[in-house]
Amino acid sequence: MCFKFIPIRKQLLKKYEMKSMQLTGIREMQLMEVETPKITKPTDVLIKMKTIGVCGSDIHYYVSGKIGSQVVKYPFPVGHEGAGIVTEIGTGVTHVKVGDRIAIEPAMPCFKCDQCLEGRHHTCRNLKFLGCPGQADGCLSEYIVMPETSCFPIPTTMSYDKAAISEPLAIGVYAVRLAKMDFKGKNVGILGFGPIGMSVLLPLMQKGANHIYVTDKIEGRLDIAKRCGAAWTGNPDTEDVVASVKEKEPALLDVIFECCGKQEAIDQAIDMLKPGGKLLIIGIPEFDRWSFPVDKLRHKEVCIQSVRRQNGALEETLELLGENKLDVSLMPTHRFKFSQTKDAFDLVAGFSDGVMKAMIDFD
Ligand SMILES: [Zn+2]
Ligand SMILES: [Zn+2]
Repeated sequence: MCFKFIPIRKQLLKKYEMKSMQLTGIREMQLMEVETPKITKPTDVLIKMKTIGVCGSDIHYYVSGKIGSQVVKYPFPVGHEGAGIVTEIGTGVTHVKVGDRIAIEPAMPCFKCDQCLEGRHHTCRNLKFLGCPGQADGCLSEYIVMPETSCFPIPTTMSYDKAAISEPLAIGVYAVRLAKMDFKGKNVGILGFGPIGMSVLLPLMQKGANHIYVTDKIEGRLDIAKRCGAAWTGNPDTEDVVASVKEKEPALLDVIFECCGKQEAIDQAIDMLKPGGKLLIIGIPEFDRWSFPVDKLRHKEVCIQSVRRQNGALEETLELLGENKLDVSLMPTHRFKFSQTKDAFDLVAGFSDGVMKAMIDFD
């Protein structure tokens, strides 16, 4: 007799099914039907996804199945640069309401550990990060559940594109803040001009940096850098970028942001920095160890700072975007439908067609 009820129950469950784009192997992904996530805590928010940006780290998981010790267990949905609309809230939610358009902060710190109590939420001992293997499923799904602390309402005048881009952009805003200097009159290098390099350049311009020197191996990206206000751009595949920068700036550069994860960029940075200069490392290399020329490092007394994502910079970033003080209009270069996510990933993985940022639309 029970069997008669099974199809009915299945039918009921089907109402809650949603589509989720999941990694299923190296350079493989599939559109799957999975259960819609549910609100389980009073502070949970159910979000219908609208737009997602494809990040370099998503691509690392796509092509290598891991970043360092974070290894993908298949199937797994990545994605952490997202914007959406609130469709349901838990009983204790006070900061957002149903219908709010939001930017999503992918980090979910515990707010209790020593790091959180010191204000270092990005290095929380119990951190869960959207789309990070072993921590939380990503936002390449029609619906996701996030704590309300990760939901940032945006004004009606702000596009979902800007809201999604606020995530990588906040990393640039944070890195610039972490350099702890008055940029007026300072000469700066940005080695690697993908979305993160661009996210560093925009706040540097806003803060009045003097000359910004940008390198990348993709000409299309260098064109964008120039249009954004870089004083000089160079391609290390076709010219000696260290010699070129030395010629233009004999006293060398005050600070360099490494944004590509390449050893040659670190070597170039050490040569381009003036004594007492600062090197901020943001890029994620595909290898496990950096190497540094000890003699030059010592003689110049270079200060090295690692940058771990961002901490508390999203609000400022959204504010600057809302006031049109950071122009990200040149960042999205390609658009895809949710069902074409694999094409977006293949494009970004191949650095094809001068891609800067590929955006994915849900409807
Ligand atoms: Zn990212
Ligand atoms: Zn914590």
